Amino acid sequence: MDRQKEFVLRTLEERDIRFVRLWFTDVLGYLKSVAIAPAELEGAFNEGIGFDGSSIEGFSRVSEADTVARPDPSTFQVLPWTTSTGKQHSARMFCDIVMPDGTPSWADSRNVLRRQLNKAADQGFSCYVHPEIEFFLLREAPKKNTEPVPADDGGYFDQTTHTAAPNFRRHAIEALESMGISVEFSHHEGAPGQQEIDLRYADALSMADNVMTFRYLIKEVAIGEGVAATFMPKPFTDYPGSAMHTHMSLFEGDINAFHNPDDPMQLSETGKKFIAGILHHASELSAVTNQWVNSYKRLIHGGEAPTAATWGGANRSALVRLPLYTPNKASSRRIEVRSPDSACNPYLAFAVLLAAGLKGIAEGYDLPDEAEDNVWELTPTERRAMGYRELPSSLAMALQEMEKSELVAEALGEHVFDYFLRNKWAEWTDYRGQVTPFELNRYISL
Ligand code: GLU
Ligand code: MG
Ligand code: MG
Repeated sequence: MDRQKEFVLRTLEERDIRFVRLWFTDVLGYLKSVAIAPAELEGAFNEGIGFDGSSIEGFSRVSEADTVARPDPSTFQVLPWTTSTGKQHSARMFCDIVMPDGTPSWADSRNVLRRQLNKAADQGFSCYVHPEIEFFLLREAPKKNTEPVPADDGGYFDQTTHTAAPNFRRHAIEALESMGISVEFSHHEGAPGQQEIDLRYADALSMADNVMTFRYLIKEVAIGEGVAATFMPKPFTDYPGSAMHTHMSLFEGDINAFHNPDDPMQLSETGKKFIAGILHHASELSAVTNQWVNSYKRLIHGGEAPTAATWGGANRSALVRLPLYTPNKASSRRIEVRSPDSACNPYLAFAVLLAAGLKGIAEGYDLPDEAEDNVWELTPTERRAMGYRELPSSLAMALQEMEKSELVAEALGEHVFDYFLRNKWAEWTDYRGQVTPFELNRYISL
């Protein structure tokens, strides 16, 4: 047995851990878990754990037979919760999902990202990511048909706002760090109740695992503080939504392939072509980085969310921004993609962004001129005249763009691509039939 597996088994025994939770992610980005007794783990390492794939979103068509979850020992972490005697009692591992014959499942989000990372490796690159994750704290978990109430009335960078949950951010960061997820920054975001926590960069696969762990931990810590966390992209009409700005860089060995000290922006040709790839394919990717009907209520003018496929140095209305760069720190040259929201499937989102950037490099796309204007202040005609391409403004428009995309079909694989489109069109159809309070207020007197 390899050393990592031995380490896991030994740790379980030494720390008297009672439950091992095996985690994986369905196509829509929901975390799934099956808990097993430590005695079962050796078998799980060898044969995996069978489960009914047809009951998991996105797995149905490939799972005529049982589907198998294989724990990845490199992801082993003990969960921070303790028993009344102060002992930690459970641990988790992410799983790769395989078919009974051992081949990777096409429905496995981890496998989708891994395939894309292998393609990057074929082009000579490894990919590093760090997300800035925004979310809201609410006074309580909203009941159906009630308005959510923010847990505080703070604003951007405010210090003393945590009326309902004063210790939330400290406890959240302790929980994250106890599971090996390093936090770089955290602060109150612009809207009441809105928080942001920025994770330290990691390879893209570990980071996607981290994002899944993050959402789970944040929700649990919030409950412990007597509040509720939501990653819904846009819970309030009058406040900005929750982004997951995604910083990306490519490395060739130890060298940051996005860095060029002689360029005015310290950005290499490779970096420029990567950005060009993301801009070129932005509309096709949109349904993956912004997958819910509600996602498109965030992507409106104002509120610091992108609405057009533009890029800029410090332009916060742009889709891709070049964050401040630490001089003499070549490794910090990176790009920031501002469209993804906090409720995306991080594996699929990183995979399609990477696919688009790599395509830009492989095909040598030209980077268009930098957008200097605040895109939100221009009229649609002005924007068109300046050559700005609008991003899809609804899930339906995004799905129409995705349907035509060879790039996304290839990145997701045929199975996930088809399932995703079917599921999301069904969501759109449900939504389209709803008569909303907005319509009643506006039209009832007609
Ligand atoms: N909350 C904003 C959004 O939805 C982003 C704010 C920021 O620039 O950090 O995109
Ligand atoms: Mg922010
Ligand atoms: Mg940002």
